[in-house]
Amino acid sequence: MASEKQRPNFTNCDFTQQVTIKVGSEAAPVSVYEDFICYHSKFFRNAFKGPWKEGGEQAITVADTNLNVFSAFVAWLYTGEIPPAFGIDWEADEDIIDSDDLSNDGYDPDKADEEVQELRRTNNRRYNGLLQLYVFGDRYDIPSLRTDVMKAWHRQQDKVLFPAHFGILRDVYALLPKTAVLRKSVAQDLALLWTGHVSKKEVALLRQCPVFAADVALAMAKRLWRVDQRQYSNWQKSRCQFHDHPSDKERMQCEMNKE
Ligand SMILES: [Zn+2]
Repeated sequence: MASEKQRPNFTNCDFTQQVTIKVGSEAAPVSVYEDFICYHSKFFRNAFKGPWKEGGEQAITVADTNLNVFSAFVAWLYTGEIPPAFGIDWEADEDIIDSDDLSNDGYDPDKADEEVQELRRTNNRRYNGLLQLYVFGDRYDIPSLRTDVMKAWHRQQDKVLFPAHFGILRDVYALLPKTAVLRKSVAQDLALLWTGHVSKKEVALLRQCPVFAADVALAMAKRLWRVDQRQYSNWQKSRCQFHDHPSDKERMQCEMNKE
């Protein structure tokens, strides 16, 4: 069992054993010390030490990732840390990095402070990178990497108090299974951090992902349950918005008569 072994480091590892991982669609070869990669990942342990291993050749292809993600994984294997700028300097999909269009309630992010905008972009790049690394840790069975990504995700969030862009949150749901804790965490976090400024793009993204929308709604419901009951009576007073009054006169009369 791996858990009984000590986590490898540069004083106790076997420097004679390396394996080759062919990374991404171009199968770029990367050499990694076997002790490190097999300690953390059941997938690689089975591949290189298990009964399925192919005789002699200690190489495996990992096509569904890229060199950026794999390099961060190797850095983490050897140092125990996710590189602090990981994700920030990537060429990322502008759709999930840039600010949103004019929101329904008149809040215009384009008019927000340029510094704040840049902070949001940097934040989204970091979240996007961390998501890719989490997905790698999910596919290749690396629980301690997933935990460290979660910690980095929350540290990033604590620093700026912005939730990730909805495009990234949609990808969290699209790329990860229901059991993934990152999925649970982003719904809870959004329920707490959502400022109420909802852009048209965000509404469209929510509609594309009803499971995510339902999880956020449930998290919010749990949270609101604890809010002062007076909020409910304020809500009762605003019910005229749901009446189909044919004229303003009738609407005004209804509003005056409300309890
Ligand atoms: Zn009314």
